[in-house]
Amino acid sequence: MSVQNDLWFDASKCFIGGEWVAPVSGETLPLENPSDGSEIARIARGQRADVDAAVQAAQTALSGEWGRKTAVERGRILTRIGQLVLERVDVLARLEAADVGKPLKQACADAVALARYMEFYGGAADKIHGETIPYLDGYTVYTLREPHGVTAHIVPWNYPMQIIGRSVGAALTMGNAAVLKPAEEACLTTLAFAKIAEEAGLPAGALNVVPGLGEEAGAALSSHPEINHISFTGSVGVGSLIQKAAADAIVPVTLELGGKSPQIVFDDADLDAALPFLVNAGVQNAGQTCSASSRILVQRGVYEKLTEMMGERYRALKVGPAMDDLDVGPLISARQKEIVEGFVKAADPARIIAQATIVDSAPKGGHYFAPTLYGGIDPDDPLAQNEIFGPVQAIIPFDTEADALRIANGTAYGLVASIWTRDGARQMRLAKALRAGQVFINNYGAGGGVELPFGGVGKSGHGREKGFEALYGFSVLKTVAAHHG
Ligand code: NAD
Repeated sequence: MSVQNDLWFDASKCFIGGEWVAPVSGETLPLENPSDGSEIARIARGQRADVDAAVQAAQTALSGEWGRKTAVERGRILTRIGQLVLERVDVLARLEAADVGKPLKQACADAVALARYMEFYGGAADKIHGETIPYLDGYTVYTLREPHGVTAHIVPWNYPMQIIGRSVGAALTMGNAAVLKPAEEACLTTLAFAKIAEEAGLPAGALNVVPGLGEEAGAALSSHPEINHISFTGSVGVGSLIQKAAADAIVPVTLELGGKSPQIVFDDADLDAALPFLVNAGVQNAGQTCSASSRILVQRGVYEKLTEMMGERYRALKVGPAMDDLDVGPLISARQKEIVEGFVKAADPARIIAQATIVDSAPKGGHYFAPTLYGGIDPDDPLAQNEIFGPVQAIIPFDTEADALRIANGTAYGLVASIWTRDGARQMRLAKALRAGQVFINNYGAGGGVELPFGGVGKSGHGREKGFEALYGFSVLKTVAAHHG
């Protein structure tokens, strides 16, 4: 499938200092459509020289037009970007569907979410204030929220639009100048976003995009001596490298990493209400979601019934090309499919409750994997401990609330969790005791609201993005104490 008609920018270029430039090496990398394995575009293979130029451009922006913008002016530009994103939702969705393999409806929702981030942060730009602090006689003390300076953003391929929206959106709102390294597997909507920002009048150098490989452009960016903050979203392994780079440079870092998020279903839960959330949270974006719910903890009294209900839903799921807009698309790459299949091969096949169907028309070159539901899984099983990053869910039975809590908190991760019960006291107890950055009661994901602070504990990372909280993370507090007698 061709996306040529939707590319109103040059996908093979970097965006540096307001210019679309070829990487210094002149090299490009192929971008694959996961639905059929075809090459849809070539992207720049940015390297150290390009990252250097981007950081330099960001510094120039901070001491120039961008650095002089008031909070209100920054907010207006972000709001304008949001409006232009909304006008281009269809084209952005088509690019994302072709590039990531996600069904068109989901890609469309991601584009709308990108616009929402711009609207939210555009509106918030002039609402972040310092404080005055009552102090000694003869002093006036106040605080100022200032940008870090040059912020580095390294993002994955699974939700490019949502992740650049929340991270770059918050950074620009606070007056930082951003250098963004999209994932080599999916770049198109990131470049489209840069084009839209340019059209919306974002001053040159405020946003720079250097596509390329993680170990080249990504490593050059995270270890660059002149960046002042790193926001990384991706795997635990690379997150650890990034944190080391940040430690060497002594710069703050936000790590949004993986998860093994549980949903806990008690005997008194409304199973009909829970069902779509239980399944969708495991198969959305073919399970390639940091906050995917890959563990379903079910109390014994409803175990059999719920397992049957989930199995039925799985058997009805259709998997196929992104543009066919079915329930589930392909995995991002042959490599990702190999990883997911590796977990399935190592698991006990007798534990499979149900699998979805890959439609006959799915192209052979696509990376299709049928969502698979397992039941009767032990909390220590690899399926219940490792982030699979594919549409595989493990149902784990439990007896008591204490068991549920121990199992839910019993992985290295802590991103999100949900509780399905009508018992108010139990809701409150567990919401406090669960080790997670977000807890949902009788829902999952709460619609992904841009207003809701998001981030993990443990190996899920640290720092918070989204909501106002991100604006504190993307700024530094300065205390001014004036002695006037
Ligand atoms: P990844 O860590 O392989 O890649 C993420 C980004 O890091 C890419 O841009 C990549 O090019 C870059 N990178 C790779 N090696 C690098 C290096 N040595 N130095 C600097 N940058 C480097 O992750 P992935 O496979 O693309 O994404 C999947 C992971 O991301 C999963 O674990 C998932 O849970 C996590 N994720 C987390 C969130 C969240 O908000 N918590 C959101 C989406 C994805």
